[in-house]
Amino acid sequence: MTTPPLPYKAAEPLTAPCTILVIVAHHDDIEFGVAGSVARWVQEGARVVYVIVTDGGAGSNEPDIRRADLVERRRQEQIAAAAVVGVPEVHFLGYPDAMLQPTLELRRHLTQIIRQVRPDRVVCQDPTTVYFGDGYINHPDHRAAGEASLYAVFPSAETRPAFPELLDAGYAPHHVRELWLTLSVHNTHYVDITATIDLKLAALRCHVSQIGAGAAAENGALAWIKQANDDGGQQVGVRYAEFYKVMRFDRDGDSAPQSATAAEATAGE
Ligand SMILES: [Zn+2]
Repeated sequence: MTTPPLPYKAAEPLTAPCTILVIVAHHDDIEFGVAGSVARWVQEGARVVYVIVTDGGAGSNEPDIRRADLVERRRQEQIAAAAVVGVPEVHFLGYPDAMLQPTLELRRHLTQIIRQVRPDRVVCQDPTTVYFGDGYINHPDHRAAGEASLYAVFPSAETRPAFPELLDAGYAPHHVRELWLTLSVHNTHYVDITATIDLKLAALRCHVSQIGAGAAAENGALAWIKQANDDGGQQVGVRYAEFYKVMRFDRDGDSAPQSATAAEATAGE
């Protein structure tokens, strides 16, 4: 009797230099969700660039916190967290936190960054996730950032007539080969982060304004995320894992074979 295949595939290690662009709504979304994978990708030779869409100014319920102070503090926390996993480049787009919408303005902004950074892979939040199970409503900012990112990847980034003002400003079309969706309920792949879980936790510790410090952080957010990644790892037979829905958009000249649809579309040009 044969063992049924696992529902998730192991992500293959990177074997060639590549650029990965991670786009999320909030400061700390990367550290909670994907920083273990990012640390691995950096160690495997990737250039990774972060985009934080909102200004983080709604990240406190304390009545005496000044929004401008919190925005600056969270910016410094995010820069420190990125440095822990070897990411020196962070773009802060500054949209008002907790009020994000997937507007054409945001899609244009992300299209400009994709055409500038020219990533092989984009990582963003799955815009279709409304809730998880029966205890967690997904933040609408996550869905808005995810939707704008999805449509910036396709069709906007690679379509010459989309946002002609970007073309006029020198931002040439760019084809993204892979889209990795985090916070998804349709995961297809996992990344084994056993070797980088400590880096992930160190990055998360930088967000003191969000998770506190000392025992409060260790017994709270840090213990929670470690347990979540442990639970995920148990599903696939590794110690710690992060999960994604992975989409690939291979074209002529890419290493993977073309799909019939892509071949027909190319032949028709
Ligand atoms: Zn968030």
